Amino acid sequence: MVGTGKKTPPPSPICPAMTDLFFWRSTPLAAMTDSQWESLCDGCGKCCLNKLEDEDTGDIHYTRVACQLLDLKTCRCTDYANRKTRVPDCLDLRELAADDFNWLPTTCAYRLLTEQKDLPDWHHLKTGRPGLVHKANCSVRGRAIHESAIDPDELEEHIIQWANP
Ligand code: SF4
Ligand code: SF4
Repeated sequence: MVGTGKKTPPPSPICPAMTDLFFWRSTPLAAMTDSQWESLCDGCGKCCLNKLEDEDTGDIHYTRVACQLLDLKTCRCTDYANRKTRVPDCLDLRELAADDFNWLPTTCAYRLLTEQKDLPDWHHLKTGRPGLVHKANCSVRGRAIHESAIDPDELEEHIIQWANP
């Protein structure tokens, strides 16, 4: 094939659009806009599972029992705007200190960035494909049940271990 003689210029290393595209590598969590902050969430739903804390060791144990407002298929909150009113113990991560993120799953974008790590390769901000979190087996889809399905006193029986914590 004969070329046209036109060449695409190489991307500028200081291209603002590219910088914005990978904003999480250059913008500290505390300095992010609301939309940048929200876009980091991969929708795994893991933080919406009930957890138990070992009183002796302080270790956090995840259960497969999800908050009643979590959509078990999409793994998203069904009333995110009113979540704090409807579920008073729902935590707003933005109100917490970064030191308090150690209870989040190791795949959580907020925890990863706090630990100076990059987002996973399947993350939608890298791939443009929000569904990959499920294909990577990193969400609760197909693995969680609602609180109404169990006796609250039996929560301990539903402790789980993640293949991808
Ligand atoms: S664990 Fe992190 S990434 Fe997953 S849903 Fe919760 S906030 Fe979003
Ligand atoms: S209220 Fe929504 S965001 Fe909060 S734990 Fe429940 S499902 Fe998750």
